[in-house]
Amino acid sequence: MKVTDHIKNANGNTLFSFEIVPPVKGNSIQELYANIEPLMEFNPPFIDVTTSREEYVYVDKEGLYDKKITRMRPGTVGICASIKHKFDVDTIPHVICGGFTKAETEYMLIDCHYLGIDNVMALRGDAMKEEKYFKPTEDGNCFASELVTQIQNLNQGRYLHDDVQGEDKSNFCIGVAGYPEKHLEAPSFKSDLIRLKQKVDAGADYVVTQMFFDNQKYFQFVEAAREIGINVPIIPGIKPIAVKRHLQLLPQIFSLDLPHDLVESVEACKNNAAVRQVGVEWAIQQSKELKAAGIPVLHYYSMGKSNNIKAIAKEVF
Ligand code: FAD
Repeated sequence: MKVTDHIKNANGNTLFSFEIVPPVKGNSIQELYANIEPLMEFNPPFIDVTTSREEYVYVDKEGLYDKKITRMRPGTVGICASIKHKFDVDTIPHVICGGFTKAETEYMLIDCHYLGIDNVMALRGDAMKEEKYFKPTEDGNCFASELVTQIQNLNQGRYLHDDVQGEDKSNFCIGVAGYPEKHLEAPSFKSDLIRLKQKVDAGADYVVTQMFFDNQKYFQFVEAAREIGINVPIIPGIKPIAVKRHLQLLPQIFSLDLPHDLVESVEACKNNAAVRQVGVEWAIQQSKELKAAGIPVLHYYSMGKSNNIKAIAKEVF
């Protein structure tokens, strides 16, 4: 079922959803299942599965190093299919522009359609680890808005290069990313919001936000989005802080601001177990306030671990 239909059917109740990361290749999917299992009691209508950029590895060839490209966490669509089958839940693959040609994207979308997956998250993806800026892949999409257009074209039965007469069209519900504290590359909050509007105008059905730790940032973002005519659901993304290093890493990677009260509480912690507790309590307060405001879905970044998300969900749902 589409995310937008899940929201409609919830009749104003706040839904619980979360995002998982595929295992590093060579590792079993069982650990992932074991992390999903404890969260199923909170009835997530859908689970997101991320897609990682490809990366460079250096292969030793008799003393000379050959630069090769690899993908450490492949298998997003396969994982979506296996989780959907095992837990009888909708799964949402993240489809990214970076590292994929438009043709590869088309094949991936066709696989999703055959598997009965009818939601996708359309994202540009980040720069590769070794690169400072995002470089579009040759014959790939440059921005998420272009990817949304490609998906909508497919929904209309318009393939990239072929004049196909078939009747079996896809009907993807499309999610896109939004940034309450602006995307790190955007020159301004306003210009980023206008880019978000372009994604919605291209056919995005809902927005999931980047993590934020101050709910006011989310409320202001939603208000600004509504003012420029973005009327689709805006689902808040929530991540509990788990280690002290997040105080430096999260602002650096996501260009976001941490409330001073939270920073002080984390700094006062003697070890990471205490930090996790602070992170969980903060996320519970955030979640309760968002739920009280009637937000349709709270979406949690689990990073593959369920303990802290379960501790939050127990208090909120
Ligand atoms: P876009 O919407 O394309 O925007 C990228 C930047 O370009 C922004 O600064 C925007 O303002 C600007 N821009 C947009 N259009 C134009 C234009 N026409 N001309 C000039 N500038 C423009 N990354 C992954 O690799 N895998 C994932 O699975 C993944 N999942 C995510 C899930 C969520 C909910 C979120 C919030 C992010 C996720 N990301 C993921 C991270 C995301 O890929 C990065 O934040 C990326 O840098 C931007 O992606 P986007 O889709 O927002 O890009």
